[in-house]
Parts: sequence; structure tokens; C-alpha cells
Amino acid sequence: MSRGGEGKVVCVTGASGFIASWLVKLLLDRGYTVNGTVRSLDDPKRTEHLLSLEGARERLNLFEANLIEDGSFDLAIDGCVGVFHTASPVFLSSSNPQEELIDPAVKGTLNVLRSCVKVPSIKRVVITSSIVSVFINRIPLDPSVIIDETWYSDQEFCKEFQHWYPLAKILAEEAGWKFAKENGIDLVTLHPGWVIGPVLQPTLNYSTEVILNVVKDGTEAIPNIYRCVDVRDVAYAHILAFENPSASGRYCLVEKVAHRSEVMKIIHKLYPTLNLPKRIEDEKPDRAPYQVSKQRAESLGLKFTPLEVTVKDTVESFKEKNLLSF
Ligand code: NAP
Repeated sequence: MSRGGEGKVVCVTGASGFIASWLVKLLLDRGYTVNGTVRSLDDPKRTEHLLSLEGARERLNLFEANLIEDGSFDLAIDGCVGVFHTASPVFLSSSNPQEELIDPAVKGTLNVLRSCVKVPSIKRVVITSSIVSVFINRIPLDPSVIIDETWYSDQEFCKEFQHWYPLAKILAEEAGWKFAKENGIDLVTLHPGWVIGPVLQPTLNYSTEVILNVVKDGTEAIPNIYRCVDVRDVAYAHILAFENPSASGRYCLVEKVAHRSEVMKIIHKLYPTLNLPKRIEDEKPDRAPYQVSKQRAESLGLKFTPLEVTVKDTVESFKEKNLLSF
């Protein structure tokens, strides 16, 4: 592991999250000093797994910050050379999407970027956007389609079908780029698909909980097409996007587009004794998967972990946490 981060201080917002916990771990492994933000320093479920990482005692500082409080990130960002903005609410259904999803995503992004403008030492900001700000529109998706970074999701389509989480991510990305251009911030946005893999934090996040629910009882109905990517690859892509001087613009991060029955078949092959819901295993895809370009992500030096490995490590992680027994 390169120690290219020695002597450098970076900030990770939402440090206790699924992706961010891996990012903090990899940054510490590379010698960086990390200022991580969490909503509450008093919640051990959000802090203990970070504090027990190797190097954390010497080089991890935790700060309280909330996306919707102006100036909340000032302290954590002060003195940094880079900021990784991962914090954002991640859930799909909401009775008050403006307050629960859109405001924290959009105002939170601007809040973080406003803190960055005050710190001249910052060289680059990397924002964790999503593939949902790239591909959601009326274009029919079939196996001949290759989605890439030139695609933009359709806000009106999202409003019409009440896709509030994608709308929040679209608006946050748009606001981020506008602010960055107006204020001379070097910004890179990353667009991961459905992120799975081993879980460092004690409680499951949304994307891994969906997989657990499908494996356990098949109750999770959506989505049936996964744009899968390994959490370790997503975390590493953040570092590559920061460290590579020529990185710029948007990067899609998807290893494979797979129907959930394909994911179930991988699990069945690896764990034949695990009692999987028959209905989902035998399900026929309602449409054939399309593709997402890996070209730009690979140009950063990212080598994607094969889906089979990611699925295996996800299930092993559930087993370790006693969420699945077999
Ligand atoms: P996660 O584990 O739920 O992490 C989200 C983080 O955001 C948590 O640390 C959470 O803090 C923080 N957060 C939420 N609302 C906040 C607020 N008002 N103020 C401060 N912090 C707040 O989810 P994740 O999967 O790692 O997602 C991280 C990022 O990746 C998000 O931007 C998400 O949109 C993006 N993403 C995720 C996926 C995926 O499949 N997982 C795919 C594409 C993009 P608490 O710890 O206090 O709750």
C-alpha cells in the first residue's frame, strides 16, 4: 500500500457510512490524517468502528457536523488539502422528500463547498454522487446500450414517477458543479451503482440491507436490476480521483449490470446449503441488462473486483455479523 498520504490532512463527510468507513480505512492505510464528520459523537455505533481502525488513534479526528446546519463543516475542513463529500441521506421512500432527502443533499453539498472555499489549501473536492444522476430517463435500455458519463438523468421524469432519492442526487450534483465552476473549485464527481461488499460499520446501510432481505426471504421487491460495484473499489476510486492530477469531471462506477436472479445464482453456487427464496432464484429478468462504461474509471487505474468475489464477501460479512446463519 502506497504511503502517499503522509503529512496530508483530508476531510471525509459522513465518515461513519458504509462507503465512507472503507474510504477512511484506505486513507489511514495510505498515511493520510483524516478529519471525519459524524452527526453525533455520542453514538458509539457511528464512531467505534472508525476509532478501532489501524492508524486511527494517531491520525483520525472526528467532528460533529450536520448537512443542514450552515458552517457546520468549517472546523473539519479547515487545514485540509482534500475533501471527500459522501454524506447524504440514503433511502428510497419518504413522506416528506423535500425535507428528508432533497434539502440535506442539495443544501448539504453547498454547505460543504462553502466551507471549502474558505480554505486555500484545498486542492480538490470529490463528491460521491450516484449512477442515478446519470441514467434515469426515457431512453429504452437494452443490451446494446452503453451508459457513460455523457448521460444525464431527467429531473422531470423523476418528479413524475416520484423518484425522490434520484432527484435529490441529480439536484445535488447540479448544484455542486455550478458552485464549483463559479468559485474555482477543482471538483470530481463519482457515480457508483449499487454498492455492496463487506460491511465495516455495526449496522447495515440501505444497499446491503436490500441484499440481505432478498437472500433471507425475498421480500425486497425493488430493484430487480442491480448496477453492482464493490464498496472497496468505490472507496479506492475516491482516492484515485483525488490523487490523480489529470482526474476531472464525472466517473461512472459499475462493475456489472445484473438481474437479481443472477446474484441469487452466484450465492446458490457458493452456498448450496443456504435456503434461498425459490421465487427469486427462478425469476426471469423482465428485461435484459444494459451496460455501463468502465472506460473512464479504468483510466484512473481502477481494477474492478468481479461480482462473484463481491457477493461472496458480502455474504461472509453478513455471516460474521450473525445476520445470516448457515
Ligand atoms: P450510508 O451508510 O447511509 O451513509 C450515509 C452517511 O450520510 C451517513 O454517515 C450519515 O450519517 C450521513 N448523513 C445523512 N444525513 C446527514 C445529515 N443530515 N447530516 C450529516 N450527515 C448525514 O450510505 P452509503 O451507502 O455509504 O452512501 C454514501 C454516499 O454514497 C451517499 O452520498 C450516497 O448517495 C452515495 N451512493 C451510495 C450508493 C449505495 O449503493 N450504497 C450508491 C451510489 C451512491 P449518520 O451516520 O449520522 O446517519
